[in-house]
Amino acid sequence: MQVFENVPSMQAWLEQQRLQNRSIGLVPTMGALHAGHLSLVRNARNQNDIVVASIFVNPTQFNDPGDLENYPRQEAQDLAMLKGEGCDAVLMPSVAEMYPNGTEHNAYNYAFGPMETVMEGAGRPGHFEGVARIVSRLFDIVAPNSAYFGDKDFQQLSIVRAVNAQGNYGIRIEGCPIVREEDGLAMSSRNQLLTAEHRAAAPFLYRCLLQANRWSGSLSIDEVRHLLAAMFEENELFALEYFDFVDPVTLQPVANWEDVPKVQACVAAFIGNVRLLDNMTMQST
Ligand code: AMP
Repeated sequence: MQVFENVPSMQAWLEQQRLQNRSIGLVPTMGALHAGHLSLVRNARNQNDIVVASIFVNPTQFNDPGDLENYPRQEAQDLAMLKGEGCDAVLMPSVAEMYPNGTEHNAYNYAFGPMETVMEGAGRPGHFEGVARIVSRLFDIVAPNSAYFGDKDFQQLSIVRAVNAQGNYGIRIEGCPIVREEDGLAMSSRNQLLTAEHRAAAPFLYRCLLQANRWSGSLSIDEVRHLLAAMFEENELFALEYFDFVDPVTLQPVANWEDVPKVQACVAAFIGNVRLLDNMTMQST
């Protein structure tokens, strides 16, 4: 497995791969890898000749400096895990390598419209601008045939598809199912920041999504929202940020189950100072 810290050396290697007509699958990550990330690598492995992963904790997508500072970093273990999955190359660049003109200078000009201002976009100003910047930089550097992202970050996946379309990249964007712990908690690098008590309580989010899905057969979205709000009221450990029912294409709130073919329930909540995300497609019919 090749490990590159700078862009020109990776591009020289990629050029060699392209000369041999090899298709390239890209898996962007922020490291602290778990089985969710590895499922992306496996999909990329199955669908491409070459798999390239990136490990980069992208400062421009963090709106909270404390969150950036506390973000787990475990590079040696990450590299061993990627090697074990048959990854061919890893880009582990410095901030200066990814932002040669500095993080303040934003040369990209994407417009995501209302998709950007709901849910994660509402609570984390500038977050998706940062995501778009790093994703387009990685697409420019690697120019993959396909790129792999998790449904876990549902809104991010929509933003990535918009970057791909607006930037005319022509990359096949593959969304991969959420990988969960045995107790239902969606795997996340941030889970390792949970205290033992909070880790034990964390599957509550998944249980709420399952409950909402069950209620969706008989109750209106408004009724479900009220019952969920009551569940969060009773749970002293969690502070709910949003529990939204949206159109999976536009990400805009849906008033009635029957308004769209499928409704995506998306939740974000703090437990202690760790912010957890989860989502699920509701099968109301
Ligand atoms: P991150 O390192 O958190 O930026 O995640 C890198 C990629 O892995 C993103 O496309 C995530 O959506 C995806 N990912 C993270 N956690 C999971 C999970 N539990 N299941 C599937 N994909 C995931």
